[in-house]
Amino acid sequence: MILPPATLGMLGGGQLGRFFVSAAHEMGYKVWVLDPDPHSPAGLIADRHLVAAYDDYGALDALAAGCAAVTTEFENVPADTLDYLGKFIPVHPAASAVAVCQNRIAEKTFLADHGLPHGPFAVIHAEHDLRSAPAALFPAVLKVARFGYDGKGQARVADADEALAAFQHFKGEPCVLEKMLALDCELSVVLARDEAGGVCSFPAGENRHRNGILDVTVAPAQLAASEAGGVTTDAQRIAERIAERLGYVGTLGVEFFVCAGELFVNEMAPRPHNSGHHTLDACDVSQYEQQVRALCGLPLAAPRQHSAAVMVNLLGELWYADGKGHGAYREPDWSVLHAVPGLRLHLYGKHHARPGRKMGHFTVTGDDPAAVLERALGARAAIGIRDE
Ligand code: ADP
Ligand code: MG
Repeated sequence: MILPPATLGMLGGGQLGRFFVSAAHEMGYKVWVLDPDPHSPAGLIADRHLVAAYDDYGALDALAAGCAAVTTEFENVPADTLDYLGKFIPVHPAASAVAVCQNRIAEKTFLADHGLPHGPFAVIHAEHDLRSAPAALFPAVLKVARFGYDGKGQARVADADEALAAFQHFKGEPCVLEKMLALDCELSVVLARDEAGGVCSFPAGENRHRNGILDVTVAPAQLAASEAGGVTTDAQRIAERIAERLGYVGTLGVEFFVCAGELFVNEMAPRPHNSGHHTLDACDVSQYEQQVRALCGLPLAAPRQHSAAVMVNLLGELWYADGKGHGAYREPDWSVLHAVPGLRLHLYGKHHARPGRKMGHFTVTGDDPAAVLERALGARAAIGIRDE
């Protein structure tokens, strides 16, 4: 067991890393953050911020010398970085698990190899792969295998010709071509797994996206009573199986599509997940504290959710007068949100708002799921988020 006042290392300085730093501090640990951005949200509150690239071996040596163990808050850490650090100190999750989650080809192949439910797809390395793709895959979504997020690096394509044009636009980068599914809804499960294989998953949440970016999470998911129990507990079991097959240690997010009542795994995130922010306010233990516990070899806590919760993301466009990214730049009027009972606002301390950038979120909690949803959507409208 790694116990306080040990120092923990975090690769990445975004909001997920920032919440990890807070959780670790609360528990008596120190945290060093590695992130090249001098303004990174986690770096601002870390005990030490190494402002360096993820492949700066001088910085990695410093991290290895100063920390008892290291983890990550984003999937695009180079596998070599994790392997290198792993020679000196415990690294969780391991490079092999992160490698699967950071490449859509490896991810889909992993799901197929392990008999885990996924939508129809084809691996695209070259134009001829697109020409020979089954017609039944269209209409489809072409996604670059690496470095896509928040809907970036994706194109919706009606047929092979459109797919070819999109593939050229992506400069021939390796891709997956996924059949466009008719979604009933989207779910996600966040879990933590320890080195001994013990696993604790939070109840599944329901995710609503806007422009390819997570907008609202309703937790637990409020599906029609007829299917709720079955689908959401099945999602937990599938997510747990994925963690086991990956030999995963840490906090993992698994996204699902529900189509005609059936579950398909969409993607995995080898880190805490945006849809698990509500665990800070609505559960006995947060996904970030579980990440600390798994990293340090402490017993995982029972992930009981004590309140219904709805989380709303606050994106950069809110900082502009028209609410869409144009006009005067100004701080939103937070007093509007603080007036809402049961609402907690979290701002990440990012120094400049860009449209689509995740700047903060709020969570509304309470006893009655319908009332919580109504209050959260009311607050969302009041702060100026509009559905166009
Ligand atoms: P990201 O890494 O940007 O989250 P995702 O693969 O999760 O990438 O895609 C973002 C969103 O786009 C999904 O949450 C879903 O709403 C939509 N989407 C992606 N793939 C499909 C698909 N095959 N069929 C229908 N909708 C999809
Ligand atoms: Mg996603």
